[in-house]
Amino acid sequence: MTTIAERLSAVSQRIKAAAQDAGRNPDSVTLLAVSKRKPLKDIEAALALGLRAFGENYVREGVEKIQGLAQSRPGHGAQWHYIGPIQSNKTAPIAEHFDWVQSLDRAKLAQRLNDQRPSHLNPLQICIQVNISGESSKSGLAPEEVETLAALVASLPHLELRGLMAIPKATDDQEEQHRQFAAMKALFDRLKEKHPQIDTLSMGMSGDLEAAIMEGATMVRLGTALFGTRTD
Ligand SMILES: *Cc1c(COP(=O)(O)O)cnc(C)c1O
Repeated sequence: MTTIAERLSAVSQRIKAAAQDAGRNPDSVTLLAVSKRKPLKDIEAALALGLRAFGENYVREGVEKIQGLAQSRPGHGAQWHYIGPIQSNKTAPIAEHFDWVQSLDRAKLAQRLNDQRPSHLNPLQICIQVNISGESSKSGLAPEEVETLAALVASLPHLELRGLMAIPKATDDQEEQHRQFAAMKALFDRLKEKHPQIDTLSMGMSGDLEAAIMEGATMVRLGTALFGTRTD
């Protein structure tokens, strides 16, 4: 049986090699451990191995783990990223429990998350999700709509704009992978001219992290490559 430690060592090598190929510092790429559908004990194991950023796609499941880890590992220092689709009736638990939201794609949701973020917490860290491949089935904004939503997020006191996230169309065609990631990087660079503080370009998963890092990803989101296959 392969352990999380062995998988982490393998993906860390991949990230390091990809960063070196791109002439980048491997430390400039954060590994987001996507723990959806995985039990708390796997998160505790990943935490013990030094991982500090966890991604969840389902609100209830995520909140249970956030509370579970706070009990089992008080003062753990991990950050929780909400990366799933957002339903407008579920914004309150997201705003109350998560540190980041990477899947923001509507003004109404930005407003609700801002209004529901408890004021004793840091602002919610926000990435806007972009539908870079234009697939009708995908969440995310069209690239030309990003600037307007970014301006709204930047104006809201309980949100902090950090960057962009994308889930490009899955493809084994490497040129197509690079094209999609390069389009995201161009969009990110344009947005940075208006919002110089943004620092997060979240793109690249288990199958395409090399192409993503080559094109400038600062965060890759890995589930299966780290925790093994899910049964969902
Ligand atoms: C599930 C998921 C991932 C991780 O996918 P794997 O194929 O398990 O690595 C990354 N990003 C998002 C938004 C996801 O929903």
